[in-house]
Amino acid sequence: TVSVREVLQEIMLNVWAKAEQKQIKLRLSAEEEDYLIIGDGNRLKQVFLNVIDNAIKFSHMNTWIDITIKREQDQVVVIVQDTGIGISEEHLERVKDRFYQVDHQHGGTGLGLAISQQLIELHGGSLLMESELGNGTTVTVKLPALTQEEHFESDIDPGVV
Ligand code: ATP
Ligand code: MG
Repeated sequence: TVSVREVLQEIMLNVWAKAEQKQIKLRLSAEEEDYLIIGDGNRLKQVFLNVIDNAIKFSHMNTWIDITIKREQDQVVVIVQDTGIGISEEHLERVKDRFYQVDHQHGGTGLGLAISQQLIELHGGSLLMESELGNGTTVTVKLPALTQEEHFESDIDPGVV
């Protein structure tokens, strides 16, 4: 099992210096301690590193990025919201295509979102991009939450059973 909250906290530490350079504040809000899911922690780190790296890359100086974790029925939902340059409707349709970039001024390969989307789908989840040109972008990732039973089973030492 993976703690989504831990994954995000680690990524926030990783990107701290980059955000600091642009005086961008990262704010995490989460009510629960962990938000457990079944998955591959390293792959999930890769996803959120890309999503948060994008948010920083396409934000203006001296802004903030809000990261929210919450529970919605049987899903863990992560929302990454920036107030950056945004994406127009025509580009928004294509940003998850491999190698697609709105412009080529910011480096990278344009693979980040294509890979992120696939990794999230392999976890049984979904990745949604919403944006408004000039106003910012919101990325919503939904992942199936660990059920009570799975939670219980994962607490049992397999060596004892
Ligand atoms: P890589 O992730 O491989 O380093 P990349 O960041 O350009 O390169 P993606 O993460 O796939 O590639 O994003 C694709 C494109 O979508 C970006 O180049 C950018 O044009 C647009 N985009 C993604 N996230 C945002 C965002 N938060 N705000 C504005 N544009 C974005
Ligand atoms: Mg990227």
